[in-house]
Amino acid sequence: MSWEESKPEPHPCPCGKGEYLVIHRSDDWGRFEERWEMWCPRCNTDYDLYTYYLNYKGMTESHHGWVRKSLLQELADLIKQMEDDKKGLATYLKMQYGKKWLQHFRGKTKKTIWSELMQDGQTYPSLSTLTSAILV
Ligand SMILES: [Zn+2]
Repeated sequence: MSWEESKPEPHPCPCGKGEYLVIHRSDDWGRFEERWEMWCPRCNTDYDLYTYYLNYKGMTESHHGWVRKSLLQELADLIKQMEDDKKGLATYLKMQYGKKWLQHFRGKTKKTIWSELMQDGQTYPSLSTLTSAILV
């Protein structure tokens, strides 16, 4: 069980004055990977590899692209801001409505709670998922 690497494929870099290499790897288990290597000194200073993942029917595909480092930093800052806002919103909602929700559902069965929250199964999660994973 070992990885086999393809011959590196050269591609023009974003500035057009150099290149980057893509190396495909695969193993006996049918797994595939790509490794991207920047060989242009100028682009190596200005760009970083951005990787994102897409899921389709249980399979995960990774995609890559060169993105300016300043944009990646801007993206990281926005993600941090979004996470902070989500925490702030969750805290606000808990403070504002937490007691009301607990009183509303107190004494009700799990099935009644599920039915009310999930509109009788029209939305996720199912009753079994809700009772086994969430309403422990
Ligand atoms: Zn370049």
